[in-house]
Amino acid sequence: MSSTTGPSRPQRPGRLVSLLLDLSTRQAEVRHVEAIGAHFRLITLEGEQLRGQRWTPGDMVQIILSGATLLGPWELRSYTPLAFDAETGAAKVLGYVHGQGPGADWFASVGAGTRCRIVGPRYALSLPKAARQAVFFGDETSFSTAIAMRETPAGYRDVRFIFEVNSIEDARVVVERFGMEDAAKLVVREEGDRHLAAVEREMLDAYRTAEASHGVLTGKASSIQRLYKALKEAGVQGRQLTNVAYWAPGKKGL
Ligand SMILES: Cc1cc2nc3c(=O)[nH]c(=O)nc-3n(C[C@H](O)[C@H](O)[C@H](O)COP(=O)(O)OP(=O)(O)OC[C@H]3O[C@@H](n4cnc5c(N)ncnc54)[C@H](O)[C@@H]3O)c2cc1C
Repeated sequence: MSSTTGPSRPQRPGRLVSLLLDLSTRQAEVRHVEAIGAHFRLITLEGEQLRGQRWTPGDMVQIILSGATLLGPWELRSYTPLAFDAETGAAKVLGYVHGQGPGADWFASVGAGTRCRIVGPRYALSLPKAARQAVFFGDETSFSTAIAMRETPAGYRDVRFIFEVNSIEDARVVVERFGMEDAAKLVVREEGDRHLAAVEREMLDAYRTAEASHGVLTGKASSIQRLYKALKEAGVQGRQLTNVAYWAPGKKGL
């Protein structure tokens, strides 16, 4: 029986693959890195291909930390620019160095000149749509999103921020650096999530006494779930809430 299989050829990215790679991702370079305390890095990513891109506060970018997308294997993680300048093609992102994954490692070690490819900016949630009064819940991974509120027409005005954090000291450095100290309440995490009872009270209080019309819930998936349930039970309508989980214990690259 004759075989129709010819000699095997070395695998090389075809023109189509290269084209798709070019279309689906954008080349960028880290232009500036600033350490904000021990666990946060503010980076500026810039790229020709980011110029003229649309960005709405709350949109994310996905950074390809290693590998070559379609040619795989690759690692991709989501981050929220706190500001985006379409004219220069520059995105500023505040990354949390939590110490357990390639994203955190990348932020810990990245320096000016590091090149990467990114996907986006693309929709994750819309901050301009959060009607004021607004209440924003999150954690260390949510600071960049919270700061992006500055880029909405109403800025930080009439927003109450509540963050669950591992370290009040570390978080305070961020809150003060970005002018949120008057509007932000920091709650330290406790064993068995006991602290969430206080967060829940704060959130409910924002709706009842400050007459919040919209809540934005971001950060740890289980905390969001609990708060969402409590708010719904207290009569808050689903349309008054926006929730996006940013991470969950044991899950990679949510
Ligand atoms: C739409 C969106 C926007 C986001 N924006 C930001 C942002 O602007 N800034 C930012 O810092 N993060 C942001 N995140 C969260 C970030 O993508 C995750 O924390 C991601 O898991 C980090 O990747 P990693 O490689 O470090 O960890 P992974 O490889 O994804 O996870 C490895 C392990 O680390 C644990 N882990 C992940 N995150 C945390 C954490 N925060 N604390 C403790 N343990 C953790 C996981 O449980 C997992 O077991 C965003 C996520 C989404 C979905």
